[in-house]
Amino acid sequence: MNGNDDRAETDGGTAEGSARTEGGPSRFAPADRVESVPPSGIREFFEVAENRDDVISLGVGEPDFTAPWAARSAAIDSLERGRTSYTANRGMLDLREAIAGRVTRYGQSYDPDTEILVTTGASEAVDLAFRAFVNPGDTVALPTPTYVSYEPGVRFAGGEPLPVHTHHEDDWALTPEALLEAGADEADVLVLCYPNNPTGATMDADEMDAVADFCREHDLLVIADEIYAALTYEGDHQSIATRPGMRERTVVINGFSKAYAMTGLRLGYAMGPETAIDAMTKVHQYAMLSAPTTAQHAALAAIERCDDEVERMRREYDRRRRYVVSRLRELGIDVAEPGGAFYAFPRVADVAPEGDARAFATELLEAEGVAAVPGTAFGAGGEGHIRISYATGLDDLKEAMARLERFLS
Ligand code: PMP
Repeated sequence: MNGNDDRAETDGGTAEGSARTEGGPSRFAPADRVESVPPSGIREFFEVAENRDDVISLGVGEPDFTAPWAARSAAIDSLERGRTSYTANRGMLDLREAIAGRVTRYGQSYDPDTEILVTTGASEAVDLAFRAFVNPGDTVALPTPTYVSYEPGVRFAGGEPLPVHTHHEDDWALTPEALLEAGADEADVLVLCYPNNPTGATMDADEMDAVADFCREHDLLVIADEIYAALTYEGDHQSIATRPGMRERTVVINGFSKAYAMTGLRLGYAMGPETAIDAMTKVHQYAMLSAPTTAQHAALAAIERCDDEVERMRREYDRRRRYVVSRLRELGIDVAEPGGAFYAFPRVADVAPEGDARAFATELLEAEGVAAVPGTAFGAGGEGHIRISYATGLDDLKEAMARLERFLS
């Protein structure tokens, strides 16, 4: 069991274990917004898994690789040189310049002076975007199954999440029909996450064009979380911000955690029109001052010197992806081909007790020591599915699939 589980996903707001329950009555009653957010559906699986030493975890949303040495040595070097002060609120200019250069590969063009903000992980950028652009009562459309932090983030900002169901049969792609059916034409903001956590779905050029048309027609702002862009296996990464008329209504979020295996360095960024980045910087400068300086030095080296290693990791994930998908299908489990990130989202309803994926995941963990996350942890639409992360070595994946086969028989 990897002890470094994905805290962003596992520590989702619960009041359990707080001073209130352990140290007698506390004067702190969580604010209504905090109280309204349910505990994370992932956490309990990690608690069981952590208490056993034979568990293979397919649950973590975190690379099993260590950050490339060039990035780590740049961090060490920055400390040796005594670079221990704050940076500019927006982040080091040379890092913003490097980011601007890097994202041209996705057809994106942003001014490092005014249109890029370096943040403490993509997580901070997501939170800032909600706080900067969501007014109390605003509706934020969230394609589901969804990454676990969006709904709480929207609620903390006082907004109303609106689930937009995507479907296995469409390979989990978002369509204008799904948006319309959910009432997203009336929404204020749409959050996009492609490549997707938890489904691994990517959008092709035509699908993205269609969503862009919908956003223009219904005047939606878009928060595009593209943290898995560099982990795309089929075709090119598609960014909605590159569609006509979309740059001015989109904030793009990206980061170093996934592609560079730098989760613990906590570095991400947001890009968008100057007014958007100014608003996010305003919140950031009071909440955070600046992103960690040491990590910024590491990130600069990552962009400048780690392309080969990123490509090596991407190829390894791709190899595992092919293996997992073909093994699942061999076992008679239906899975949409994931085009990016490091997740597969198979349907287990047909082989689960009463079609219940949560019961399936619990029994699989108890009987065979394989931890996967039930799809319901990712909101409506995940029923009957589990999320399998292949950010786990091929040997462990092979063993996990052998155990799954035994479990099914
Ligand atoms: N967005 C998505 C879709 C993610 O999966 C994650 C990490 N689980 C994040 C954002 C947060 O990344 P970071 O480590 O950069 O905060």
